[in-house]
Amino acid sequence: MSLELLLATANPAKAAEMARLLGGLPLTLRTRADFPGLPDVDEDAATFVGNAIKKARALADATGLMALADDSGLCVDALGGAPGVWSARYAGPGCTDADNNARLLGALEGTPDAARTAHFVCVVAIARPGVAPVTFEGTCEGLIAPKAAGTAGFGYDPLFLIPEAGRTFAQMTADEKARISHRARAFAQARAWLARQLEPDR
Ligand code: IMP
Repeated sequence: MSLELLLATANPAKAAEMARLLGGLPLTLRTRADFPGLPDVDEDAATFVGNAIKKARALADATGLMALADDSGLCVDALGGAPGVWSARYAGPGCTDADNNARLLGALEGTPDAARTAHFVCVVAIARPGVAPVTFEGTCEGLIAPKAAGTAGFGYDPLFLIPEAGRTFAQMTADEKARISHRARAFAQARAWLARQLEPDR
């Protein structure tokens, strides 16, 4: 049995990463790029779950296919969970990763090391037309470093310190990060759920 699954991204790099995280299953993967003209979905929900469901449901409804969407971000305890769902736009419209990191360091100025706890969250939602969506959440705990370190990765990686490793995400290889990341943990659960849907007696 094979299953057709639409990934809620048109970005080839993101689609490749999702395909790698779902690897080994008999899935026929499609992306938004295969369906020109699909509506853009505003990520304006108050939660990661809300945004992921909104994106997955919009694509499932528009195409009739099973659709998978993810939403992720960084939650800093000393900032009441900010930037949270605003992670991509923390420093304002059109901001860069460097702008976001600078704003985060500024917001935490004077905050002692022990109070710089944070976690990344990734929620994966899978929706099918007419069926309640399912969601899977992965988290990764760390600390916000006092200054940026490392050049790998993207987003807040240079500031996200894994205390047990003594390194930031941006100082890790892609494989090292993929062993512990919020995204890998959420997709591992989604992958297990998809594997169950593909069992012959279902
Ligand atoms: P998205 O929902 O996966 O597009 O992530 C939203 C934003 O959260 C990104 O633009 C980054 O600022 C931040 N973010 C999510 N995951 C990561 C990560 O693994 N490393 C660094 N930043 C991340």
